[in-house]
Amino acid sequence: MGAEASPSRSISGHLRGALNACRGAWVHAARLALDIALPTLCVACREPVDGEGVCAECWAKLSFIAPPFCPRLGIPFVYDPGPGLLSMEAIADPPAYARARAAVRYDDVARTLVHALKYHDRTDLAPAMGRWMARAGRELLDDADVLVPVPLHWRRGWSRRYNQSGALARSIERQSDVKVVSEVLRRVRPTQQQIGLSRMQRATNVQGAFKVAPDRQSEIQGRRVVLIDDVLTSGATVDACARALLRAKAAHVDVLVFARVVDTHKGPI
Ligand SMILES: [Zn+2]
Repeated sequence: MGAEASPSRSISGHLRGALNACRGAWVHAARLALDIALPTLCVACREPVDGEGVCAECWAKLSFIAPPFCPRLGIPFVYDPGPGLLSMEAIADPPAYARARAAVRYDDVARTLVHALKYHDRTDLAPAMGRWMARAGRELLDDADVLVPVPLHWRRGWSRRYNQSGALARSIERQSDVKVVSEVLRRVRPTQQQIGLSRMQRATNVQGAFKVAPDRQSEIQGRRVVLIDDVLTSGATVDACARALLRAKAAHVDVLVFARVVDTHKGPI
């Protein structure tokens, strides 16, 4: 009995080994097939793409903001009004910050990228978006000491797990020699979502909502700050942040965002 049991065990052992090897090879092949079947998709149009978040076609659809634009607000001009001329908006309602720059206009492709980063954990998009921002904000970054991301309220930060402005700021830090200081600017009271609010309501909603933490004021005092956010709509949020930073004695505050809303119905001046 014992003499017969031994070879049969060994045969079944071999069989099991062969089966496992087969299974391993099959799993490997299946994984490979899946990799081929499921390449990275363009975040905007869902077509396969190599490497980064958007395909060449969607990249071409992004409206990168280039001169001529308002030197103060960064709003693109239809024609060049000559050096130093400001937009109507900058003259009528000057912001607390010195200058604002944006990489792209906030259109469909830009919105898809912003939403993917903000709500779908696509942190892999931050390096490319940050690179475009660093290019658009070169002039600002050359004059800057620190980068400050616009903070989320802690409740929203908790549910969304990370701050998209922080992810963009860290990407810009890698593109420049300017360091991020995080957790310095804080949201001291919850604010409503700005979506659907009028310009006046937006300003009231965020008024006094931000504060530099008293124990971190030395990191802002006398520093040239570039405030980082994903989208600039009315500018109320970055304006409230700039006021808080200036109250903490920042030397000056500039603003760099990924996308800005551009009202195409308005003329340049
Ligand atoms: Zn695409």
